[in-house]
Amino acid sequence: MSLDGQYDEQNIFAKILRGEMPCAKVYEDGGTLAFMDAFPQSRGHVLVIPRNPSRNLLEVAPKDIGRLFGTVQRVATAVRSALKPDGIVVTQFNGAPAGQTVFHSHVHIIPRYDGEALAGHAAGEMADTDELKTLAEQIRNALEA
Ligand code: AMP
Repeated sequence: MSLDGQYDEQNIFAKILRGEMPCAKVYEDGGTLAFMDAFPQSRGHVLVIPRNPSRNLLEVAPKDIGRLFGTVQRVATAVRSALKPDGIVVTQFNGAPAGQTVFHSHVHIIPRYDGEALAGHAAGEMADTDELKTLAEQIRNALEA
């Protein structure tokens, strides 16, 4: 999957957006959804996606960019309040050669803790569902505070 090609309506994030697949939801509004990464690179790894279909950042409509990164900033701020990390990595990958594995645009919010190594990108172990729900709730509570 390079940068070119058709958007696949059956990709996993499209299914999550349609409610066909579960997720540990952190935040949603009319344009974006944030949920816990199921194979987290660190404790509190969150993904933010735009609702409108696009394969990568280059395809996100300019009108959706501000809202997407508004949610990224909002959720990252809540992650900081809830989990007290020492740093936060915000990243995203475009095209398989760049490391992209799910072809609906998304932004990673990855908390970093001093002295703790990151798990590999899209290579970590699947997290315990209850643990993800608890983290999502902690972050949600910080959003509402
Ligand atoms: P990327 O490799 O940048 O395309 O990121 C895709 C991310 O989606 C990876 O970090 C995966 O761990 C994550 N992921 C894959 N399947 C799911 C899922 N069902 N729910 C939540 N996160 C997922």
